Amino acid sequence: MSSEGMPSRHVRLAIVGSGPAGLTAAIYASRANIAPLVISGVPSGGQLMITTDVENYPGFPEGIQGPELIVKMREQAARFGTEFLDSTVRNVDLTHHPFMLDTGLTGVVHADCVIVATGANARWLELANEQRLRGHGVSACATCDGFFFKGKDVVTVGGGDSAMEEATFLTKFANSVTVVHRRPDLRASRIMQDRARQNHKIRFRFDTEVTDVLGADSVTGVVVRHLPSGKEETLEVQGLFLAIGHDPATEVFRGALDLDEKGYLQTTDITRTSVDGVFAAGDVYDHRYRQAVSAAGLGCMAALDAEKWLTEHSAPTPGRRGAH
Ligand code: NAP
Repeated sequence: MSSEGMPSRHVRLAIVGSGPAGLTAAIYASRANIAPLVISGVPSGGQLMITTDVENYPGFPEGIQGPELIVKMREQAARFGTEFLDSTVRNVDLTHHPFMLDTGLTGVVHADCVIVATGANARWLELANEQRLRGHGVSACATCDGFFFKGKDVVTVGGGDSAMEEATFLTKFANSVTVVHRRPDLRASRIMQDRARQNHKIRFRFDTEVTDVLGADSVTGVVVRHLPSGKEETLEVQGLFLAIGHDPATEVFRGALDLDEKGYLQTTDITRTSVDGVFAAGDVYDHRYRQAVSAAGLGCMAALDAEKWLTEHSAPTPGRRGAH
């Protein structure tokens, strides 16, 4: 399980992930003199690193760029003694104390307590131009970016609750919202469907997929294909919102922590995972709110719970097997 011959270190608290949840946990834990180690993930910083303007994070009346917000959080955590390991956890053993986190070439971390804040990633259609225009008209978060589409026409992709919720939300700003869904029927709950269907700004294109996004610097159109006929058409819109689900970044914890059927960490009492001494924070288990500020709040809670846990449990000697 461990990387033989690799450096090994022991910490009281390891925080896995460096988005708003992990970094807020680090700020709280380091201010409590726990000197946490953040294993940041590569690339680090989470979803905010691919976000442009953030206007709904409190404290920044002029808005702030996502990457800048992450840099500030990271500096704040470092100021109080957080250490960073810019690496990725490749393997874990959570059956013994201290817990073992294997980061490959950067060594093995033994930790008395762990906070998992690895987040979730929005699904994309994986079209070349979609990736190029991310943050320039292409978004996977209507709550974050809807405001920038006042008076514009946009497409939302997906047939689930998120797509209905986001399409309905976008009508507060957009002139029109076209929901493009690859099947003849929506899978969203009846109440969410009805709300969207009754909204005069929302149109539906069923049995249809998006095949391309157009625009040099920002979105000017979305190419769609009607699947039964194969007919392609360009919709002249300025925005493309993906609402096709998220994938939690929990693969490395599979078998070690309880996950739900979609791979999200299962928790009790808000932050407790199925292993005593391992806590969770942010989108890695919260698939409902998925906001930077709610992830930060959950990071705070996880750090307070971890601090309490460390106080209540005499730190086991590194390398010794021990009961919790
Ligand atoms: P979801 O239920 O998994 O729906 C994803 C949608 O995206 C599906 O319609 C799926 O199509 C489509 N899709 C997936 N991959 C695609 C691709 N590559 N190309 C085109 N379309 C694709 O995800 P969700 O809507 O994010 O909801 C996740 C969970 O959160 C659900 O349990 C949902 O009920 C819940 N939720 C609840 C609320 C609420 O109650 N307020 C709001 C949001 C979400 P198919 O239908 O063909 O599979």
